[in-house]
Amino acid sequence: MTQKTHYIFTILLALSIVSCTSQTNKPQTKMNTKDKVEKTEEEWKKILSPEQYHVIREKGTELPFSGKYYLHNDKGVYTCAACGTELFKSDTKFDAGCGWPSFFDAIDSSKINYIKDKSHGMIRTEITCAKCDGHLGHVFDDGPQPTGQRYCVNSLSIEFKEK
Ligand SMILES: [Zn+2]
Repeated sequence: MTQKTHYIFTILLALSIVSCTSQTNKPQTKMNTKDKVEKTEEEWKKILSPEQYHVIREKGTELPFSGKYYLHNDKGVYTCAACGTELFKSDTKFDAGCGWPSFFDAIDSSKINYIKDKSHGMIRTEITCAKCDGHLGHVFDDGPQPTGQRYCVNSLSIEFKEK
């Protein structure tokens, strides 16, 4: 092997290693995969309470009027209970009379995934945290102005931070 071909071979080898290690088998989502919080279900079980795990990871729904934030009116920010992403502000919270904390807007809609949900014989839009894929609740288009949206969220899916 001449020195020149050896040199080219070395570069090609280096390039193929780089392209191999940068490949990922995960499906592409709108959020950069390096920003995602990914844990095994066993790891989530250690972090979350059994009630939180059921709602957040198994897409459960807490009983209406049971959650700690349904009648909560302090000023601050509501974050994802699983990963801490700031999702809703207290000044967009309203009493929808449905028994779950309700918001007419999200802080940043790119931090929420909107997924068509046909379970239980209804067509609804499920909302999940875009960072950790934790289930939050559903969004409906019967909310108050200025958005007309009603983000109906489980108390177990969020944590309140005073601001
Ligand atoms: Zn999250």
